[in-house]
Amino acid sequence: MNSIESKIQALREELHQHNYNYYILDKPIVSDYEFDMKLKELQDLEEKYPEFADSNSPTQRVGGYVTKKFNTIQHRNRMYSLDNSYSYEELEDYEKRIKKLVEDEDIEYVCELKYDGASISLSYEDGKLTQALTRGDGFQGDDVTANIRTIKSIPLILHGDYPDSFDIRGEIVFPNEDFEKLNNSRIKNGEEPYANPRNLASGTLKMQDSKEVARRPLECLLYFLVGEDISVESQFDALEKARSMGFKVPEISEKFKNIEGVKGFIEKWDTKRHELKYETDGVVIKVNSLSQQEELGYTAKAPRWAIAYKFKAEQKSTVLKEITYQVGRTGAVTPVANLEAVQLAGTVVKRASLHNADQIEKLDIRVGDTVFVEKGGEIIPKIIGVDFSKRHTDSSKTEYIETCPECGSELVRKENEAQHYCLNSYNCPPQIKGKIEHFISRKAMDIDGLGAETIDLLFSVGLIHNIGDLYDLKSKKTELLSLDRMAEKSVNNLLEGIEASKNIEFEKVLFALGIRYVGETVAKKLARYFKSIDSICNATFEELVQVDEIGERIAESVISYFNDNRNIEILNVLKANGLNFVIDESEIDGSSDVLSGKTFVVSGVFENYSRNDLKKEIEKYGGKISSSISKKTDFLVAGEKMGPSKLEKANKLEVKIISEPEFVEMIR
Ligand code: AMP
Ligand code: ZN
Repeated sequence: MNSIESKIQALREELHQHNYNYYILDKPIVSDYEFDMKLKELQDLEEKYPEFADSNSPTQRVGGYVTKKFNTIQHRNRMYSLDNSYSYEELEDYEKRIKKLVEDEDIEYVCELKYDGASISLSYEDGKLTQALTRGDGFQGDDVTANIRTIKSIPLILHGDYPDSFDIRGEIVFPNEDFEKLNNSRIKNGEEPYANPRNLASGTLKMQDSKEVARRPLECLLYFLVGEDISVESQFDALEKARSMGFKVPEISEKFKNIEGVKGFIEKWDTKRHELKYETDGVVIKVNSLSQQEELGYTAKAPRWAIAYKFKAEQKSTVLKEITYQVGRTGAVTPVANLEAVQLAGTVVKRASLHNADQIEKLDIRVGDTVFVEKGGEIIPKIIGVDFSKRHTDSSKTEYIETCPECGSELVRKENEAQHYCLNSYNCPPQIKGKIEHFISRKAMDIDGLGAETIDLLFSVGLIHNIGDLYDLKSKKTELLSLDRMAEKSVNNLLEGIEASKNIEFEKVLFALGIRYVGETVAKKLARYFKSIDSICNATFEELVQVDEIGERIAESVISYFNDNRNIEILNVLKANGLNFVIDESEIDGSSDVLSGKTFVVSGVFENYSRNDLKKEIEKYGGKISSSISKKTDFLVAGEKMGPSKLEKANKLEVKIISEPEFVEMIR
C-alpha cells in the first residue's frame, strides 16, 4: 500500500469511528468542526486520487448518486410480516397455541417496541454494507442502497466479530421532533403536511437524489439478524451481537418467563412510549430461543414465533371552540379546529386539522360540539367524529367561509379539488409573505440574514411588497436601521445576503419565483431544456409538455404565470438587478458533454445503476454506447460478474477498463 492509500484508509477508519461515537454511542470525542475538517481532507484526497474510491467511504454519507428507477431485487430471505393482537386475551390464546407446538416446554419471551417506520433489509459481506432493500411484497423489494448509505446511524463498515455474510432487518424512522419541524414549515409554505413519520420515512427512502436524503435526519433501528452462521442462541443475544457489530439497536428490550411479564411491559410502554424520540405502534413479542423459533416456524405470512400487540390509538373528547382558517403561500385555505386544551398521547393538544370543507360536512362538525380527537400514526391530531349526545339544541351547521380571512377576496374551489383557494395572490398578506419566504429559502435564493420574522416586519412597515423590492433595500438603509431589532450588523448581513443571491444559478432562481407546481425538480428540467427565462416565457403549451416530466397541469401554470403582467414587472426588476436568468452551461452536471467522442461498452452488474441506467447516464453526458468491444472502444465499464471473454478481449485490444466508481468520477 502506498502512503496516499494508507493515509486515505486511516482517515476513513477514524471517521467511521467518530461517526459511531456520535450516532450510536451518543458520545462524540471530537468537535463537529474537527470532524468536518477531517472529512474535507478525505474528500480532497479522494478527489485527487479517484483510483482509491470506495462506495463505503464516510464521504459517501453526503450522497451524490441520483437513482432514476429503483431496481426490484429478490430478497435473499423472505421478509415476513407479523400477526397482530389487540387484547391480553388474544395474547393468552397465542401462548396456548405455541405451547402446544413446543410440547409444553417453557417459553421465554423477548419484548421489543414496534417502531413505526419503513422496514428495511441490509446485506453485509465481509463486514461491508453491500445492499439495502425495502420490504416490497416480502419476496422482492426496491434497491435503495445509495440512499441508505447516507443514513449516519447505519454502519458502512462493521466492528468486531461478524459473520462473513448476513442480512439485518430493521426500521427506518423519522424522529418526531424533526417531523414536526418539517411539517410546520410545509404548512407555512402552503404545502400539504406529511401524514405521519412513517410515510415520510418511506417517501424519503424513495427520493431520487441521495443528497436530499442525506439532509433528512433519518435513523435506522435494527432488531433482527438473518443468516447461516450468526452463532447466537437467542433473540436477546442476537440483539446484543448486532450492537457489538456497530448497529443501532434499541435499548428497550426485556426478557420475560411468561405472558404475565409481557403484560407488564405493554402496560408500562403504552404510556411511556410518548416520551420516546420515535413513533411506536405496539410491542413485538418474540420467542427468545432460536431453536424454539425454528420448531415453531412460519405461516404463509408471518412467523409463529412472534406476535405484535397493537397499542390503541389514544382518543379523547373535547370541545371545539372555534374554526379558523389558514391561508398558505399558494392561497390554499386550511380549516383548523381550535380546541379546549386536552392531554393526548403525551402532548397538550389545542388544535387539530379539519382538512377541508368536505370533511367538515361529512362529519357534520359544528362549533360548540364535543368532538373526539385521535392521535394515531399521525402526529397532527385529527377529529374523528362528534359526540352527538352532547350537541346543544341551538347549534347550527358550519358554513364554510366564502371570502379570504386575510384579504376578503372571494374564495374559489376548482372542480375536483378539495381545497378552497384565495386567488388574490398579489394583495393577500400571507401569500405575499409566503412568496418572499419561499424566494429566500435555502433551496431557492438562499439569502442569509432574512427569516420569516424579518419579512413580517419589513412587510408590515411597507418596505417590501414583493420579491423585487428586496433588491431595492440597499437604498433604504436608514429606514432599515430605524426599525426595532435591526442593528447595523444585522442590516449589513441582510444586504450582503441579498447581494450574494445575484450569483445563484438560473435553475434555483426559477424555482425561487414560486410558480405554482414548479418545484425544485421541475425548475431544473425547464431551465436545462429552455436555457433562459425568455425562452420559457415564449414557449407554447405544446413545447412545454414536450419536456420530460412536464405535464399539462404544470404547462398551464407556467403559461398563466407569464401571462400575468404583474409577474413580468417583477421579473424586469429582478433582471435589472442582475439575477441569473440564463443558464450557465459550465455549472450544470446533468447535460454536459464530458464524455463526448468516447465509446463505451458496459458489462456486468453494478451497485448503484442497472445496466440500462448506466447506459443512459453515458449518453446523457455525450458518450456513445456499443454492445461489443472493438478497436473503437475507448472504455469498458466493468461491473461484478462480467464475462471473462469480454475482459480478455478488452485486454487484448488495450481498451481501458474502468470500475463503477471510476466512471462516476469521470462524470462528476
Ligand atoms: P406489519 O407491518 O403490521 O405487518 O408489522 C410488521 C412490521 O413491523 C415489520 O415488517 C417491521 O417492519 C415492523 N417492526 C417494527 N419494530 C419491530 C420489531 N422490534 N420487531 C419486528 N418487527 C418490527
Ligand atoms: Zn386572501
